[in-house]
Amino acid sequence: MTDAKISEATWVELRGAANAAMTKAYVPYSKFPVGAAALTDDGRIVSGCNVENASYGLTLCAECSLVSELAMSSQGVAPAKLVAFTCVDGHGNILMPCGRCRQLLFEHSSKGMILETVSGFKTIDEVIPDAFGPRDLEDRAL
Ligand code: ZN
Repeated sequence: MTDAKISEATWVELRGAANAAMTKAYVPYSKFPVGAAALTDDGRIVSGCNVENASYGLTLCAECSLVSELAMSSQGVAPAKLVAFTCVDGHGNILMPCGRCRQLLFEHSSKGMILETVSGFKTIDEVIPDAFGPRDLEDRAL
């Protein structure tokens, strides 16, 4: 999958926002900062960093704070949708979202959302195939 819709300049901007977010990470335990950034369908960039907790299982991935910013900063009833996404480690290298966060991103993805991954640009459907999502709840509810 190649990126046909998102310009290289936008990816550079997203990587910059992800790296800036990464510097805000709260990682006293793992020392593994992560930053994430995404372009929204209304043309904004949202970002997030990971936030650890002494109760390790409560740690928030960078995608969690990104989605929180998405909801908090969107106009209207429903949050904007994500169009393009990238995520970096403490060295600025591309990271894959964990399985949980792929589901989190899917919930807020636009159709055909592009992710920059360790193996190139991929659509959301490629990184979480046959995903369970909001349409399943609407279509299959009793
Ligand atoms: Zn995650």
